[in-house]
Order: sequence, then C-alpha cells, then structure tokens
Amino acid sequence: MRIAQVSAHTSPLAPLGGRETGGMNVYVLELSRELARLGYEVDIFTRRDGELPRVEQVAPNLRLVRIDAGPATPIEKEEIVESLPEFARNMRQFVTQQPGGYDLIHSHYWQSGWAGTILAREFDLPHVVMFHTLGEVKNRARFGEEEPKLRIRHERTIARRATAIVTASDHERLLLERYYGADPAKMHTVPCGIDLDLFQPRDRAAARTKLGLDPEAPVLLWVGRLEKLKGVEILVDAVAQLERRDVTLLIVGGDARARELKAELQAQAAAAGIAANVRFEGAVTHDSLPDYYSAADVCVVPSYYESFGLVAVESMACGTPVVASRVGGLVSTVTDGVTGYLIPWRCPEPFAEKLDVLLGNPELRANFSRAAQRSVERFRWSTVGLRIADVYDAARERHRSAREVPEEGSGFGKEAWEAAILASGR
Ligand code: UDP
Repeated sequence: MRIAQVSAHTSPLAPLGGRETGGMNVYVLELSRELARLGYEVDIFTRRDGELPRVEQVAPNLRLVRIDAGPATPIEKEEIVESLPEFARNMRQFVTQQPGGYDLIHSHYWQSGWAGTILAREFDLPHVVMFHTLGEVKNRARFGEEEPKLRIRHERTIARRATAIVTASDHERLLLERYYGADPAKMHTVPCGIDLDLFQPRDRAAARTKLGLDPEAPVLLWVGRLEKLKGVEILVDAVAQLERRDVTLLIVGGDARARELKAELQAQAAAAGIAANVRFEGAVTHDSLPDYYSAADVCVVPSYYESFGLVAVESMACGTPVVASRVGGLVSTVTDGVTGYLIPWRCPEPFAEKLDVLLGNPELRANFSRAAQRSVERFRWSTVGLRIADVYDAARERHRSAREVPEEGSGFGKEAWEAAILASGR
C-alpha cells in the first residue's frame, strides 16, 4: 500500500524548536518511519524551501519529496497559502508520474488538508486528515493573536470532505464536532506516538554536569516552539513567585524568528528580579532532550492550548513530572495528582503553588516520576502505528462505499485558488 503524507508548510527533516518546527514535524516523520517499518511505501510531500534534492530516500520504504511552490527559501506560513495552488499542481504532476500512484492521502494541518482535498478528488483516493491545531480553537484560547476567517472556513470544508479525520485526543474530536460540525462517524482518536527508546530516564547527576547545572538546586524546564500560544510569560512570573530563590528555569527552543518574544521574556524576568535564574538554551536537537528532561525536577507546560502536547509525554517518559495547563490533549496525557498537576487557570499563582509543592517534596516527586514512566507505554510508536493503519483500512472501506453516493461538488465553491488548480488540469 502506497501512502502520500502531505506536510506542505514545514519539512519533517527541518531542525526542531523553530517557530514552525515542533510536534507536527516529529509526528509526520516518526509516523512515516513506523508505517515504512510495517511495510507501507510512504512518500512525504513538503514545499521545497532550499537548494535541496527533490527526492530524498530517508529510510527503506520512506522518501521525502520536495515540491516546488513559491521561492525555494523559507517563507512565513501565512505566505505559503499563496503558493498552495502551485504546490497542488506540482504534486499532482509528481503523482501522475508514479507508476501505480498512491492508495491514500494523509495530510497534516489545514494548508496540506486543502491540497490533500483537491488531490484526493482528482485521483479518486481516500483522504485522511489530521489538523494538529484548529483556527477556531486557537481563537477561543484568547492568547492575543487572531487566526484568519479563511483558515476556519477551509478547515470546515476539509473536515466535511475528508474520508476520515484523526484527532490526537477526545477533546479535539469534541471540538471538531462542536465548532466545525464534523461527522463523529469518520473521526478516530489516536494519540500521538513517542520514541520510547529515546525518551528514557538518564542519570540525573550526569545530565546536570553535562548541562552545567548545579547538582542540587531546583531546575524547572520548558521546551517547545517559542511562540505566544505556549504561555511562557506565565511561567516566568510563576518562577518569580516561588518560595525558593535558587531555582533555575531552562527555556529550550526558539530560533532567530523568536528573537522578539525572547527579548520580551528577558525583560520580564529582569523586571521581576529573576534574570539570573532564567537560562535561554535556544533550539536543541531532539536527541539531546532526554538530558534536559532528566536533569529537571519538573517540566512546565503553561500553554493556552495544546492539541496533544508531545513535550509533556516526553518528559513523563524520562521520569520527570509535569505541571501543565488543563487544556486540550494535556487532559488526556497528564493525570492530575498522579503524574503531575493540571492547572485550570492561565495565571502564575496556581503554577507557583504546585511548583512549590513539588520542589519541596522529593518523595512526592519520586512517586509522580514512577507513575509518569508507567503511564507512557500506550504512546509507543509500534502501537500507535498499528492504530493509524486501522484508520487507513477504515478510510479505504468508507471511500469504496462512498463511491456509490453522487458527488456534491468540490466544497470549495469558486475560490480563486481552486480555480487555478482546476484550470491547470486535464
Ligand atoms: N523540540 C525539539 N527541540 C527543541 C524544541 C522542541 O526537539 O529545541 C521538539 C520536542 O521534543 C517535541 C516537539 O518539538 O517533540 C514539540 O511538540 P509539542 O507537541 O510539545 O508542541 P507543538 O510544536 O506541536 O506545538
């Protein structure tokens, strides 16, 4: 079975921790690797953003296909929208040249979902979509940025047209039903996978020495794409309110594009008198993260929203308890009072309170740590990969039976970009 994974706006091989390179990149690459191991032939399609090979063999059965669309340089996600018709046209051409074609398209995020919708129709294929984040949900999280109406409108159409939708948590599934009117019968909740061979507890003292950290003083950790939605400012204020003054906060993630937010956070820490306690590490490789998780006493995830939140699970896999916002997927991964704490408010005081509790109780931390390690087995890729394979089987079956029902139009009406695709075709 040949699968086309579509990740138009960001390459799964791009360095992680940038503004647009986080959970989705990890997910698409690791899922594709797992499917390839299971015997599927997988091609991942992404926009060509550098002088890089058009087709790259990543592993046996797994290729990365870079599609020309817009300039061959990194561009903002918002600008990629304009290049989507070109992306879909050029992907279409590539697909046409593949002997045997593909059996299913699995697209990630709404931009790829848009291309996937059109190409699935063109080639009469089942289309599985995973949104990763939803515009409507981001807008309701009220963190100070607004997603365009166009995105939400297209998400609604993509959801309606998709053969199957994968949601990473039951919460996301509920939101798709409530805000987008998505059909529950075609939604499948499958949690994200974690590389449990990589994310394992490492020796705490050795990890601290490696990272130049005090062997005894408390260490808090934040990891992710440095962007507003992640609520890092809540954590900086929480650290300022802690009982102990010798705490180090490690902030991991953020590239040149996060310069402005980093400067804001530095100014905030300075104003709160804790500049010396906050260490900005920049983006680090995925492989070095187990050292960070193992060196930390607690990992904090103060996000306004997370559709899944890989960082929380990676941390628990390394035996480090989590204090996280009670939002989105975190509700289904962190068990309040068992593997960490879930905070229902987006303000520093309750975070500081729970961090004081954990930092002051090594025994409690050890209990949470054991429970956390036990809780992650269900995220093993070999399990998650098989569940996605089941979704593919269900989608193919659904597609077969839907063929008997008459078409109701492309669903995109007379949008200029779809017109461009159709005009370029047959
Ligand atoms: N990550 C990384 N290096 C960094 C920062 C982040 O490898 O410097 C990885 C992290 O390990 C995790 C992913 O980026 O796998 C972030 O995923 P998450 O689901 O937590 O957040 P998202 O990016 O989806 O918002």
